[in-house]
Amino acid sequence: MPWAKFNKNDIKAVTSLFEKNYGDLKPFLNFNNAFQLLIAVVLSAQCTDKRVNIITQELFKRYSKPSDLAKKSLKDFEEEIKTCGMFHNKAKNLIESSKILLEKFNDSVPGDFDSLTGLPGIGRKSANVILGTYFHKDTFPVDTHVFRVANRMGLADAKTPEKTENELTALIPKNCWMKFHRWLVYHGRICCTARNPRCPTCFLKNYCKYYAEK
Ligand code: SF4
Repeated sequence: MPWAKFNKNDIKAVTSLFEKNYGDLKPFLNFNNAFQLLIAVVLSAQCTDKRVNIITQELFKRYSKPSDLAKKSLKDFEEEIKTCGMFHNKAKNLIESSKILLEKFNDSVPGDFDSLTGLPGIGRKSANVILGTYFHKDTFPVDTHVFRVANRMGLADAKTPEKTENELTALIPKNCWMKFHRWLVYHGRICCTARNPRCPTCFLKNYCKYYAEK
């Protein structure tokens, strides 16, 4: 059967299936405020959320605002996050970001895309996670799971995360963007995995390009 592009009714059906199977997913990373979310988001690059939540459980007792971290020595902070991949760069970026947040943003985290992406270690996806999760803005962060699942399903047909984000935001109603983001991430983790997607038992198979073409 040739693949037909998603229409509004298909999106409604996929939304219902996600609602029914996953419900309203909570954020995957633990945090108590915007700065702690920023720390968790930076630590989560190439590291599992589970590991990040273990590390931040202790870390957040000591760091709740940029000024708590801005004067920390790199060596000492590296030691505190060393069980996380790429800890050297992450420690460097987080200390540097804390200095900027302290000096330019009055010891707080700004709620706008350009200010966030101006911080070291914060790219498009990370800024969108912070804006969508903490500031409740309508964003659609595209991480490796969202990119893979959306393009497999045919919700997007794009070679880059940014183009995938553009296509998803054009297709999916704005008030569902963060919900869809979490659904796609979760689905990518437990069902539509990178190596062996579990297509035969997937509740989305009737709406999936990859499955139809196979
Ligand atoms: S049918 Fe397969 S490829 Fe499609 S979303 Fe489900 S697991 Fe992924």
